[in-house]
Amino acid sequence: MKISVLNLTFCIISMHAAVYDFTQDYYSGHEPLEVLKFLIIDMPSKLKDNNSLIFNNPLNKSVNTLGDRAHVTEGERVLLAYACAYKRMNPESSFEIFLKDGAANYQVVFDDTQTRGMQKYSLKMVPKRVLITGCAGLLGSALTKALLDKDFHVIGLDNGLCGKKSNLADIQDHPHFQYYSHDITKPFDIEGPLDMILHFASIPSPVMYYKMPLETLDVGLLGTLHTLDLAVQKNARYLFASTSEVYGNPEVNPQPETYFGNVDPMGIRSQYDESKRGAETLIKLYFEKYGIDVRIARIFNTYGPGMRLSDGRVITSFIESLLHDTPLTVHGTGQQTRSFAYVTDTVEGIIKLLESNTLSCAPDIQDRVFNIGNPHEFTINELAEAVVKLGHETLDKKITVTHVPRFDSTDPELRRPDISKAQALLNFKPSVSLADGLNRTLDYFKNSQDYKE
Ligand code: UDP
Repeated sequence: MKISVLNLTFCIISMHAAVYDFTQDYYSGHEPLEVLKFLIIDMPSKLKDNNSLIFNNPLNKSVNTLGDRAHVTEGERVLLAYACAYKRMNPESSFEIFLKDGAANYQVVFDDTQTRGMQKYSLKMVPKRVLITGCAGLLGSALTKALLDKDFHVIGLDNGLCGKKSNLADIQDHPHFQYYSHDITKPFDIEGPLDMILHFASIPSPVMYYKMPLETLDVGLLGTLHTLDLAVQKNARYLFASTSEVYGNPEVNPQPETYFGNVDPMGIRSQYDESKRGAETLIKLYFEKYGIDVRIARIFNTYGPGMRLSDGRVITSFIESLLHDTPLTVHGTGQQTRSFAYVTDTVEGIIKLLESNTLSCAPDIQDRVFNIGNPHEFTINELAEAVVKLGHETLDKKITVTHVPRFDSTDPELRRPDISKAQALLNFKPSVSLADGLNRTLDYFKNSQDYKE
């Protein structure tokens, strides 16, 4: 399958004879002198063919002309000077020049202002292009909107299995958002460059992953393979939505990123846990083999507007019971714990992880793994009490709580993220309390189609 991306700037690029993207590694296996000759002799002679050029932003950087990498750094500056000189002398030529740096993309635009008879350039901001798989889900849709607000161009894929198309209703006509219905387990391609890939497609709802165990493994593993291949092809930064489930039923509490986990690969939730654990291993191998810039977010129990009311997770199940005046059903003793993060907090952590430029240089995969969650830990009984209280205060309802036997013997007893790494390195500070988050979530579901149906 080929997905056409009609982004004006890059569509123009893709129609050219060729695009030379010098942010990709062009030079491995070549002698420095060969590289420098290529940049200052071969490439300038190709400018007449209207080939477009993408550089790592070489502006305002002090380059040592005698340094170890000067054949690349100075070579690219000479080529940029050639390209600008050619453009000034041949204003009708249609090739384009782009500069990328950690924070932004720029197009070099030659305007009509003349200095000594030659055109001057200005820099026009070009939105960063991001692919989000699972863009209709709770996190995928919230991230899509947050990135659009930050002036990114977002290409979203979803097959509608777990997400909600209504989550995208308010942005469907956004000029920088493109939506494609696609099943991530099938190969796909995206035309044009990509700066970042966020792989969030997944089957995280217990109701669905019990019903669709093979599909759950496929989404986690094949979906990750396909998006990793794309990241290599596009030289894109890659962020994976992993999960606290990789820690299984933990023997340490809270769980730091260095904890290996305690997962039963044959347990009834192993399809979900192992799909994410196996995906992390794939990411490590691609990082080591291809040197792509990967990040892994281990996301802890996130909730909020945008979920499906019937997804089987504890907060949605309790709110569903509250709205339908039925008792809240606690599995087992209710002494098992979880740490719930409100969606805006989790999104903030993920964006900080995505945008960290210092991480691009981290040599060890372990440095690129971060717990993202809220460290306040509650028993499921405490959560039930909070929902009962909320029902009483906001809806004037008196809801009861009932206990049913636990059906999943691998259900974790404890879960709480150690977020000291994200606090220290990303300045991540979740701030929404459980009471506040539950209130906002109830507000959303009261007026949602899920409840009215
Ligand atoms: N749970 C519950 N009642 C429900 C749904 C879930 O007591 O109606 C329990 C579930 O057994 C688990 C905890 O709540 O111990 C969290 O479940 P959820 O599926 O939300 O998240 P996960 O187990 O994946 O962390």
